[in-house]
Amino acid sequence: MRFDVVTIFPAIFGPVFKQGVVGRAIERGVIELYAHDLRDHTHDRHRQVDDIPFGGGPGMVMKPEPVIEAVEAIRKTNPGPVVLTEPWGETFDQKMAAELAAEPGLIIVCGRYEGIDDRVRTALGAREISIGDYVLSGGEIPAMVIIDATARLVPGVVGDPDSLTQDSFSDETGEVATGWPQYTRPAEYRGMKVPDVLLSGDHARIRQWRRQQAAQRRNPQGVKR
Ligand code: SAH
Repeated sequence: MRFDVVTIFPAIFGPVFKQGVVGRAIERGVIELYAHDLRDHTHDRHRQVDDIPFGGGPGMVMKPEPVIEAVEAIRKTNPGPVVLTEPWGETFDQKMAAELAAEPGLIIVCGRYEGIDDRVRTALGAREISIGDYVLSGGEIPAMVIIDATARLVPGVVGDPDSLTQDSFSDETGEVATGWPQYTRPAEYRGMKVPDVLLSGDHARIRQWRRQQAAQRRNPQGVKR
């Protein structure tokens, strides 16, 4: 799967995606990731990507031409959908990650300033995605969140596919909406013991215990199930 990102800060993607599971998938060629400098698609001497808002108000707005031209250039090699990061977009979740992972590619535009000129959405038929109801200073961290969660669902990225089906939010029946508590060695640390059942070798009991624990585990808002 191929990811292309359009950003004014392309350099920050390299270090993040050199690490871990996604980094290894890029090395092995299962995933391709390219970060493009939006300023390469400007035509003026100052390489300006923002301008003042029509109608007044504070801050600056991302100009439509560089974004649209950047995405048009990328579309020649990436057939995937276009995503704009916006705080008011559809909220990203595990289901959306699975949907996106089934695409041949993904093109993500990172907003900055007060946001992106609305004609970009119209011109590109883009989908707007938010990573939650709060405002960040730019779309780069949201793009990284979307890429990481999506990439690990692409076949061949995570070594053992079972580790995906046991993840939080991943049970198709919706019965287990969170992962279960995990323990590793030592079996006792500062008087805290690993639950006996996990040392029992009784796999049916372990499965049952894990399901129960997962069902009890809730975030403060209550996990949807
Ligand atoms: N004035 C805008 C916020 C701009 S924040 C508003 O009130 O909606 C600048 C950029 O950061 C946005 O264009 C978007 O690309 C990105 N961004 C900020 N918060 C985000 C979030 N929760 N999810 C996705 N992108 C976000």
